[in-house]
Amino acid sequence: MTPFTYEALPQKIMFGVEAEAAVRDALAGLGVSRALVLSTPPQADAAERLAAALGDSAAGVYTGATMHTPVSVTEDAMRVVADRRADAVVALGGGSTIGLGKAIALRTDLPQVVVPTTYAGSEATPILGETEGGRKTTQRTMKVLPEVVVYDVSLTLTLPPALSATSGMNAIAHAVEGLYAQDRNPLISLLAADGIRAFAAALPAIMADPADEAARSEALYGAWACGTCLGSVGMALHHKLCHVLGGTFDLPHSETHTVMLPHAVAYNAAAAPEAMATVARALGASDAATGLFDLARRLGAPTTLAEIGMPEDGIERAADLAAANPYWNPRPLERDALRDLIAAAYHGQRPLQAAA
Ligand code: NAD
Repeated sequence: MTPFTYEALPQKIMFGVEAEAAVRDALAGLGVSRALVLSTPPQADAAERLAAALGDSAAGVYTGATMHTPVSVTEDAMRVVADRRADAVVALGGGSTIGLGKAIALRTDLPQVVVPTTYAGSEATPILGETEGGRKTTQRTMKVLPEVVVYDVSLTLTLPPALSATSGMNAIAHAVEGLYAQDRNPLISLLAADGIRAFAAALPAIMADPADEAARSEALYGAWACGTCLGSVGMALHHKLCHVLGGTFDLPHSETHTVMLPHAVAYNAAAAPEAMATVARALGASDAATGLFDLARRLGAPTTLAEIGMPEDGIERAADLAAANPYWNPRPLERDALRDLIAAAYHGQRPLQAAA
């Protein structure tokens, strides 16, 4: 066995529960009684319902969460936190809403109860990305790790099929990079493999019937497993590429992950053969990169950067940015090979199957 270090994240996970009762229990367990419920505007009704069910334990609702956690929105929400004398936040939603809850926790140390409704996995990480003046900065601090996560499958049934597919591929990306992380460990590798397996089974079933509760439950479990990988070990080329492309060309988050993952995996394949074998096995495919590409195609998810808004003349610039500020990756960063990778993703070429 290779030596490893593993540090468990202190979090309570309540899976397969009914959100209203579980959040009430969670708030009581934390010893708080004035929670501000957060959501995006489209999920305002769900947030209002949750706040109503919490009764006196809810101090109000703030429904202005938005993508990329802009500091201006956080400051607006902080005024509501102060006005209502909130002593906790409850984030109901995907990575955008959870990001707002984390940004408030960073500034106030208020405890967070999170009710995830996508598969992005932010609830399981001590990571916060914020934007100000068009610049995104990311930090890792235990101050933003949510204290309690409540997984209620019924709240995910409304996640549109297209977003379910890309959100699931976004989650798979955390597990794939967790398997070849520099600081990987046996526990996270087990979770990674099982998270990929869960999504490979659940996502096609969700596309066939978005109200399939068993498949939704499997996917939500996958979200926890894959999110825990993101929260526990370091990521590499794929996440860096998505950060660069999303930030530079304002591309949508989960779609960018979906398009890039097969190509980042193909780039790293020869340098991480054990991880690749695990990914392929979990997908039920003969090869990791082509297996991921074929899964995205089967789900009807985007497979080209062109279709999600990247300009073709951005390929060279993206390659320069991806090669700058070196970071750890199983295969060294070679600028021209990165350019070819981004061009292949731009055009949606099926990655070549790695030699066995
Ligand atoms: P999102 O939170 O932006 O949600 C996308 C849209 O779907 C929103 O309009 C939302 O209201 C809606 N929605 C969410 N759940 C729904 C449901 N069940 N039914 C109907 N509509 C629903 O999308 P996301 O992909 O979850 O999050 C992306 C953001 O999260 C990005 O900014 C990304 O950087 C961040 N993120 C952060 C981490 C981290 O660890 N810090 C991890 C993953 C993602």
